[in-house]
Parts: sequence; structure tokens; C-alpha cells
Amino acid sequence: MSQQGYVATTPLSQAQPGMGGYHSGFGTPASQPLYGHYGAGPQFPAGLSGSPRHLPPSVSGGPSNPGPPPFSHAGPQGGMQSQRFPAPAISASPISPYGQTPLPAPHSLPSQAPPPADTSCPSPVRLLAGQMETMHVGGYGHVQMQSAPLHTGTTDHQFHPPTSPPAMGHHVLPSPQPQGPPSTLGAPSLLAAPQPVGAMTTAQHMRMSGSFSGPGPHGSSGFAQPPGTPGTPGFSPQAGTYGGQVSAAQPPFPGTFPGGAAQMAGPPQKKPDPDSIPSPTQVMEDERSRRGGQVYSTNLRGQIPPLVTTDFMVQDQGHTSPRFIRCTAYSFPCTADMAKQSHIPLAAVIKPFASIPNNETPLYVVDHGEAGPLRCNRCKAYMCPFMHFIDGGRRYQCGFCSCVNEVPASYFQHLDHMGRRVDVYQRPELSLGSYEFIATLDYCKDNKPPSPPAFIFMIDVSFTTIKRGLVRLVCEELKTLLDRLPREEGAERSAIKVGFVTYNKVLHFYNVKSSLAQPQMMVVSDVAEMFVPLLDGFLVDFQESRSVISNLLDQIPDMFADTSESETVFAPVIQAGVETLKAAECSGKLFIFHSSLPTAEAPGRLRNREDKRLINTEKEKSLFQPARGAYEQLSKDCVSSGCCVDLFLFPSQYVDVASMGDVPLHTGGSVYMYPNFQVEADSDLFLSDLRSDVKRPIGFDAIMRVRTSTGFRATNFFGSIYMSNTTDVEMAAVDCHKAITVEFKHDDTLSEDTGALLQCALLYTTVGGRRRLRIHNLGLNCCSQLTDLYKSCETDALINYFAKSAYGAMLNQPLKGVREGLASEAAHMLACYRKHCAAPSAMSQLILPDAMKVFPAYMNSLLKSAALVASVELSTDDRALQRLTVLGMGVEETQALFYPRLIPLHDVDPVSTGIPPPVRCSRERLSEQGLYLLEDGRQIILWLGQACPPTLVQSIFGVPSFAHVSTVVGTLPELDNPHSKRLRAVIDLITQQRPYSMKLLVVKQKEKNEALFLQRLVEDPGLHGGPSYMDFLCHVHREIRQILT
Ligand SMILES: [Zn+2]
Repeated sequence: MSQQGYVATTPLSQAQPGMGGYHSGFGTPASQPLYGHYGAGPQFPAGLSGSPRHLPPSVSGGPSNPGPPPFSHAGPQGGMQSQRFPAPAISASPISPYGQTPLPAPHSLPSQAPPPADTSCPSPVRLLAGQMETMHVGGYGHVQMQSAPLHTGTTDHQFHPPTSPPAMGHHVLPSPQPQGPPSTLGAPSLLAAPQPVGAMTTAQHMRMSGSFSGPGPHGSSGFAQPPGTPGTPGFSPQAGTYGGQVSAAQPPFPGTFPGGAAQMAGPPQKKPDPDSIPSPTQVMEDERSRRGGQVYSTNLRGQIPPLVTTDFMVQDQGHTSPRFIRCTAYSFPCTADMAKQSHIPLAAVIKPFASIPNNETPLYVVDHGEAGPLRCNRCKAYMCPFMHFIDGGRRYQCGFCSCVNEVPASYFQHLDHMGRRVDVYQRPELSLGSYEFIATLDYCKDNKPPSPPAFIFMIDVSFTTIKRGLVRLVCEELKTLLDRLPREEGAERSAIKVGFVTYNKVLHFYNVKSSLAQPQMMVVSDVAEMFVPLLDGFLVDFQESRSVISNLLDQIPDMFADTSESETVFAPVIQAGVETLKAAECSGKLFIFHSSLPTAEAPGRLRNREDKRLINTEKEKSLFQPARGAYEQLSKDCVSSGCCVDLFLFPSQYVDVASMGDVPLHTGGSVYMYPNFQVEADSDLFLSDLRSDVKRPIGFDAIMRVRTSTGFRATNFFGSIYMSNTTDVEMAAVDCHKAITVEFKHDDTLSEDTGALLQCALLYTTVGGRRRLRIHNLGLNCCSQLTDLYKSCETDALINYFAKSAYGAMLNQPLKGVREGLASEAAHMLACYRKHCAAPSAMSQLILPDAMKVFPAYMNSLLKSAALVASVELSTDDRALQRLTVLGMGVEETQALFYPRLIPLHDVDPVSTGIPPPVRCSRERLSEQGLYLLEDGRQIILWLGQACPPTLVQSIFGVPSFAHVSTVVGTLPELDNPHSKRLRAVIDLITQQRPYSMKLLVVKQKEKNEALFLQRLVEDPGLHGGPSYMDFLCHVHREIRQILT
């Protein structure tokens, strides 16, 4: 199979005739139909035989091996061809628009340039673009460069947004624009790459790519193709043959760009066709049509799962579901050198508690009795399908460390003629990728069974919070919400105990024992030495104490109605919660509802340290570092006691989210923020978050360990976690939305035969107070050819890794360095591909691996994200919140955040169903007559074009015209017409897919709040800095050329 699918650009770079887009010769096939690494190991029939004790019929009778897997192992990410893109904007020549005569060399550009763009653009659009230009000063952030920029960095000087206004509506013939071509855009490369008339544009390439990637949806070509498959003639990806050509085509690269105005004065250039660069929406759409609605069977090692944006059903057949683990690459390089050379991070994004759709089988629970789960004596890995039974079934060899272990008599079973245990399909731990073990007392604190967890509700009753009506709102909600506490499966009622605290400068504990007629309050004013004044009667069963609690919740708002106390404490509140849980010997969660900066004299007191002058300096990082002192120790205490902290913030000004969110971040908690909260407008949003938070699946007092087979190991961990040593990931709690990103490094050489195996074991306490071990096993392939590595990459997981590593690094490094590091890594990854995997071609062409063809779009969006972009216009709290939130995100959430969905709704068929297909995230895709919905998992924004037909406005908003539409409302009127119903149905569908409730904003074209919408159009130049996607591609291309020179 070829990485060089189709190459139709220039004669010089044309693929060898007859390649047909295929080649062989990357060694061992990427995946194998069996667990071949156990020597003559058993084939792995997927179906279940007999009548398994644990397994329902739905799992049995699955498709069986041997033979090529029935589904989807040749996903587009494993596609066979790289994308060869004409170099956007670096030279006009390769980006020749449809049918237009290509320009032979840059020196002829000025004379051949079409007329200026502004004659072809309606004036309103120009105005918009004009605003953009003035807001977009330079690159990332409003950087005043204090020293000469490094040429390798993503500094502002290298990027300039297109100065010609984007066309509204349909696109678009390229229009000329002055652009800052670095002086390196020399003739040689262009001469090497004249494009014939009618040459393929990239968009055409991409359409072609589908036809090259295999015979249709069930294509058996590609990644997991078994050896010997016909039709895979060879192309060896050695680099040797084109080194010379590269240097010949490459002009000398200057050390730095002059940047600034001088650069802008360069010769006018054609505006590249936006359709000529890889489209993220197209990639998603292609994948949906190829793999959507299918069953993904996890019976093969190293399979590439469908994208997170594709609907599919998982059938566990020996490897864990991609809902639990996704990887940046599904074929790890055999050697550390290869890994280093490629710059591709090897990482897994693990969401151990991921929700499973109703049509998939929930995890089985395995009980090994008093002996507890069976584990390898040496590496302590748990029994799993990677253990190989030998010696007639009396011993087994560990797939992770190769140690040979005795099988205990109680676990003995005969082997069949294939060397497979006869009971393999009666035992989830031998046949499935994910399952749970019942943990014995050895796995419990002090060898005692845990108590059920407790939820403690802690409400700020200071002046502001009371006056806003928040206290009453929370109290009213709790009366009904507590009936819906999570329960153990099958249990009649929740075992979770509840307790209540209110606080301002002092803390009030409440005795709500069921035998009391009235609740009792106890005040603790010594906040420096927090203690718990009562235990009996504080944590109670809600059902038993219902009337006392109800009574209390009625009284609280009135009790403090006349308060004048405006100061609050914060750290002592958490301390009180921890001490309570410690005393009650249980784990649990604190729900803290808080309004203001905790300025009262107490441990953890905070001051306003938001100093915008620090932005773009070495000290900017300090804005995101938690205040020194109380919080670090508090996190430690919380984690060791299994105390998770969820923080609901209602600030009207700066509250130092970086500090206040530090304990939630390290305890598996969440931070929610509702700035300038108003009961009328924002209650629904908050209450919906609170309800979903209380009810969601969760495990407490968790510790996670990721074991690996010989040759590599987990070295770095990112998430809402705490690490007290280098291997154990501690989480006071972990819920269904939290993901931990784990990076791996080589210790030794990996083998293509045995692959790279992972086992994630999570020990936790259930909501019913039972100790469990949740096991996820995943086998990856290993490769000795870089092409196989690039084919197996998953862009969405890569971005999750890069986001978390960058958001982690920004505490210790200047942001500029973090951004430059990211851009440089991206360039190195792509440069290595070009050097070692792509066929010879002119350097003027940008060549991207198929599986990573939209990686630059996501990377650029990450670079422009609020946390990383240095802009004085953004609130420090918003940036800190984004940082905290992203660190806990899974791949679905980071994908949505870094490439929002932009859905046109004005021309949707009202009787259609589902979510209409999105368009690319750019102003170029907007029509003034249109209505668009933008969604990124955090917010939903409805954008209304100023020429939107009044009939549409009337049917959606219930007002006669654009001018009458209010942008204040947070909801849409429920109108009885097909358009209104359809739009609201779309919003409901989207909301259901996301973990957090999303605020609905209505913005109107050219009105003030439009910036909130425009800044999420990630293909455009950032409102707060950062280049457009097109310009970023140019930058990456320049970097690649420089690396390869
Ligand atoms: Zn072992």
C-alpha cells in the first residue's frame, strides 16, 4: 500500500506510473488476525460457545476469526495515501485554481495577478474584515516582541492574516492579496513545480483519497491487511533517492524572517483557494459515510477505531473499547530512535469510566472469591486475554513480562487442541478487553471494607450569594435532587450519605439526624484550626432524614436573608469536608457553591493577582500557577482521604480560578463557572449542570496503574489527577467524563511479533461502597517502518495529548516557548514523514500523511486557544478555567473544542432528522442570509445573518425582523412551526451528546457580541491573535523545508 496515493500535481513530483496508489514493503503487516504473539497461539474466535455464566446472548455468536475481520480495520486514518498538497500561499503556483493557468514563477506574480479583491467583495464584508485586521495585530496575542524572534518559532511576525476580506456566501474564486511571502519563496522551488492546467486541487485530491483507500466501506485494504494479499506491489519508502532532489529544489533558507511591515509589502499574491487545504469537516463526513452505524469488533491488535465523531457500536472481543482508550498511534515504532525521529508522541487517552451506550454490553463483574483476582507474580498484571496458558493448562506465561506463573488449582482448566482454555468464553477475564473484578480486603484501606461515599453540600451564604437568589435556588433544587443520588446497580436506594454546611467567614454545620424535629446548627469560627463539631447526625441517609433536611433547606435562605457579611473563606471549607470524611472513614464529594474571592483572614486566603501587565512576559505563567500555601497540602489531604471537590463558581469579578480550581483539578473534580449569574437567565444552565454532576457514574478513592509489555512504559500523566509517585495515578474520584492522558517511552526495542500491550487497572469504591477493580486491556501493533507509524496515527488523540501537555507545561514555561514548542513539534512530525515516507517531490509541495491531514488545523486552533493565546482582552479566570477543564478532557471533548461544529440551519429541511452536516469553521462559509449554529461542547452560539429572511426570523424568534431579535435571551421561544421545532430538536440532540450543559447565545451579524462567535471560527485568523489555518499551513511548510534543508 502506498503512502503516495495519487500524485497528480507536477510532472516532476508525479508518482511512478503503475504504482496505483499501492505499494508493499513496509514489513510485517500492521495487524494480524490472531494473537500471534503467543507463538502458536490460539486463534481467537470471537463468538462465545456454551452458555456462559456471565455473558449474555448478545455477546455470543459474534463474528469469528480467522479471516479478515468483518469490520472497519482499514479506517481512513489508516488510509494508504498521503496527501500531497500544493504549497498554499508560499507560492501561488501550486495552488492554481480550477482551470486557471498556473504561474510559472513568483517573479511573474505581480503582472499576472488578478484584480484586487476588494472590488469583488460587498462592502459590508469589507467592513467586517477591516475590523478583523485591526483586532488582529500580529500573531498569537498582542505581542510586542522584545527580542528578535526565533525563526523556528510561531511568532507573530511570520503570520499575517489575509488582508483581502473574505468572501461571504459561496466560495469563491481566488482573489489577489498582498501577502508577506518570506524571501525564501524563491524561484527554484516554483520552477520545479509548475502545475499543469487543470491539475488537481487539494480538494480534488481529497475526494480522490476515498477511492484509493480501499474498496468501499468494508474495504479490506489497508492497515490490517494480512500478508500476501494480492494487489500490494511495492514501494519502499527509503529516503535515499530524493535527498539530492530536495536540496536541489530548496532555495537557501534565511535564518529569520524580516517580519512586520516590510514583509507585508511583498509582491501581491493570489489568495489561495480555501477549498484547496484539507477540510476537517470533510474528513469527518467521509469517515461517517464509511464507518458510521457499523459494529466495531475489537478482535484485532492494533486496529484503528472510527473517529470520535462517527456513530458506531462496539463489540468487545478481547481488546478494550475505544470509548475507554484511544491512542495517538495504534502501531508503536519498534525502537526509541524511530519514535524520536518521528516526533510523534506515543500516548493513550484513558477514560476508565466512560459511559457505554445502551446497545452495548455493560462490563461484567468477575468474582475470584477470597483469593482475589489472579495476577502475574512478577509484574502484577491482572488475568486477561494476553496471558498465554501452557503446560496443559497448569501454567501461564504473562503477556506483559513473560514470567511463567503457576495456575492455582482452583483456576485450573484443560486446554483444547488449539492450546486454548476450554472455558475461555465463560470467563470475561480471558476473552474480553474490559471487565471488573471484585476486590478483596487486601485492596481496601486498612483491610476494612469501605463505607459508602458521602456527598457534602457546602453553600456560601455571604451577602452577594444571598442577594442574587442563589442560596434559595440551590436549597430548593436539593430537596428534589437528593432523591436522585446515584445507586448501586440493582439497589433500591442510594447508599450515599449527605451532609450540609453553610459558610461565610465562619462555618455552620447542621445536625439533621432523623430523630430531630428541627435541624440544629453548630458554628465553627476558628477557621485556622478546622475541626468537625459533630459526626453523628451530620452525615445522614437522605430518605431517613428527609423531613429534617427539607426543613433545613427551607430555613437556610431565610436564616441569612439579612446578612451583611461579604467576606468568605474557602480553604477551610474544603478542610472541613476532608476532616468530616476522614472522621466518618468514607470517601466522598464536596459540592461547593461559591461567589467571590475568599479574602477573609484564613488559610488559603486569596488576593486579586490578575495583572494584565504580565501577559506576554516571562511571568505570565504565574497567573495560572495556584497561589502558594494552603492549596497544595489540601489537595494531598483530599486525595489521601478520597475527597473529591466540585466547585460551582458564580463570580462577578476575578476570583482566581487558578487557585480555587487547584483542589478540584487534583481530586478528579470539576469546576463550573457562571459569571454574573442571574437567576432568571442562568438557572437552567446551572441546575442542569448540577443535576448531571450529582447523577453521573462515578468511582471514589481511585488509584490507577497502567502496565505495559516489555520494552516501553508509561512516563507522563495528564489529567484531573494526583501523583505521589511515578506510577500510581491517584484520583479522589473519577467520573464518566474524566480522561487521563498517558505518555509512553521506550525502554528497549519492541517486537512486531508481540506488539505493545497495555493494561489499565483502576481500583475504586463504588457508589454503594464496594471495592472493585476495573480492567481495560489494549494491544497495539509495533512497526519497523515509519510509514506504518504514520498510517496508524489518530489526529484527535494527538491533539488531546498536545493540548494537555501544553496546558501542563504552561505552569512552568513562558507561553511563547510553549507555543513555539507545539508548532515545532508539528513541523518535525510532518518533516519526518516527508523525508522518510513520501515519494520524491518538489519542496514547494506540502505533503501530509493521510491520517494527519487535518492535524495542522487542530494544532493551529490549539495554539490560538484562550489558555495559550496571550491576549489582554481575555479574562485570566476564563483562561485558567479552560486550562483546568481541558486537562480532564477525553478525545471527544478536545475534538469538539478545537474544531467546533458550524451548522447551517436556514436551509434545513424541517422534516429531516438528526444533526445537519456542518460546514467548515470559517467566515468564508457564512451567508448573510443565513442562520448558523456553532457548538464546541462548552457553548452553543446561534449566529444570525443580517439579511436573514424575515419569515425565517419570525419562525425562529417570533419577531418580525432582524432588528427585533434580542440577543439577551438564553433560550429560544417554543414556537409551533416546523422550523422552530427542528432547530430546537437539533439543539437538544447536541446537548445530549455533551457532558456539560451549554449556554445558548444569540449573536447578530455585526453587533457587539459577534466577537464571541467569530473567535470560535478556528480556520480564520484569531480575534485575539494567531494565524488562519491557511497561514499556519504555510508556516508549517516553511518549517518543514527548513528542517529538511
Ligand atoms: Zn507479568
